[in-house]
Amino acid sequence: MSDAIRPRWPEGKTGCMALAFDLDGPTGDAMLNGSIWQKPEYFTFGGYGPFRALARILDLLRAFQVPATFFVPAWVVEQWPQQCRAIVEQGHEVAYHGYRHESFWSLNASEQRQVMATSRDIFWQHLGIRAGGFRTPSGDWHADTPSVLLDAGVTYSSSMRGDDRPYAIQVAGYEQPLVEIPGKWEMDDYASLAYTREPDFPKGLDRTASYALTLDNWCREFDGAMAEGLCLTTLFHPKISGKPGRILLLEQFLAHMTANPQVWFARCGEVADWYIKEQQHD
Ligand SMILES: [Zn+2]
Repeated sequence: MSDAIRPRWPEGKTGCMALAFDLDGPTGDAMLNGSIWQKPEYFTFGGYGPFRALARILDLLRAFQVPATFFVPAWVVEQWPQQCRAIVEQGHEVAYHGYRHESFWSLNASEQRQVMATSRDIFWQHLGIRAGGFRTPSGDWHADTPSVLLDAGVTYSSSMRGDDRPYAIQVAGYEQPLVEIPGKWEMDDYASLAYTREPDFPKGLDRTASYALTLDNWCREFDGAMAEGLCLTTLFHPKISGKPGRILLLEQFLAHMTANPQVWFARCGEVADWYIKEQQHD
């Protein structure tokens, strides 16, 4: 890759890893349509994330001294405030992910504004923070979403797929762009490790992928991104990856990543701040 399109990173590092987790808990479609209240088993599958799996992930991050970003639906913050406060207390970033994991593409602008206002209040009340980031829940967003986010004090999103470096989304009527830190499905643990029944995931109830191959895939994605000096983030979910067998995978993945001394490990908010500063220098 030519140096012209190769991003620069702080401290002379040559690549950026922005580890991120979506702490969805039991929020999502089944909660939005009410069916989860007839599905206690499925509720507990989700609740396991903040209630049980999160602590395991935080312990692992502490052991490797690696910072991360947690995108958390505000409803999860309300139900498990103590667990969510531990994320902040341990130096990680907490950012917006809807109230009950709403699909922003299905909401009009005022409904989106309501979700953001509710989330802002809950984050302030229970965590004492104003979040600066957002990851769109359940896929896509609405044409109005970037302006709704900027109005809510959000400076970056990690929702799109348009690059493997941070980029700017210009929004009509706003001087400051929304910084996008794109992810990819290859780095979503749902793609290889999720398995639930009613609702069925994957739809045909196929098997999960091999753990060894999953680790190999993640390491290869990391190596490729770092070889080109890019920014890699993850869409990992504590309820999927924070289980006893899978935490060993994450441990091996972190060992592989931290063995590379050229990598800048950063919270997504730091990546966005760095990107904005770099643009101002050009
Ligand atoms: Zn999510």
